[in-house]
Amino acid sequence: MSRRILLVEDEPGLVLTISDLLAAEGYQVETAADGPTGLARAANEAFDLAILDVMLPGKNGFEVCRELRQQGRDLAVLMLTAKTQIVDRVVGLKLGADDYLTKPFDPAELLARIEALLRRARKESLPRVLRFRFGNVAVDFESGEVRKEGLPVTLASKELQLLRYLIERRGKVVSRDELLAHVWEYQTGVSSRTIDVHVAWLRQKLEDYPQTPKYIHTVRGMGYRFSPE
Ligand code: CA
Repeated sequence: MSRRILLVEDEPGLVLTISDLLAAEGYQVETAADGPTGLARAANEAFDLAILDVMLPGKNGFEVCRELRQQGRDLAVLMLTAKTQIVDRVVGLKLGADDYLTKPFDPAELLARIEALLRRARKESLPRVLRFRFGNVAVDFESGEVRKEGLPVTLASKELQLLRYLIERRGKVVSRDELLAHVWEYQTGVSSRTIDVHVAWLRQKLEDYPQTPKYIHTVRGMGYRFSPE
């Protein structure tokens, strides 16, 4: 089945160029020329990816992106920005965009970014873990209830999210950058040190021997890995 892309862009010339380019690659392309229309279509129809221009009439690309994420829409979002300012990139990523491209761009670059995002989105659709047991620990991610040897353990919501992220990818190394993007969503003031501290807290609360963890491992120079046994 061909992948559906929503292009939200108000420059007719660019709409034509990008639509033709994507159609030639076998994508199914739909367009919207202003923010409100783009938001309505992205929220109500099934798209695999949205290309959002930042400067749009009615509602800018940042606002469209933020509202989509607030509604829980998890389609891939590629932002197009006319400015080369780093602030656009940071703001965009914070509001939930997955990638950005500065205008003018090379068509081949646009296609490469789209392919990468769609590939990542496919890989990312992991089944959600609702409950999980390891050693003498039982976690219920729905209720947030955690028990160790039958006794309740209190985890902060970020600790719980971090644990869930690692458990859903158990056996695989997860980098700090990935955790920064997906667990902390580029929150201001969060550094890799913040992540290390949260990992230390998790070990303190859940591991029998926090100094020599059995489940939450550090992979030197790479990140963290959860091993069920
Ligand atoms: Ca524009």
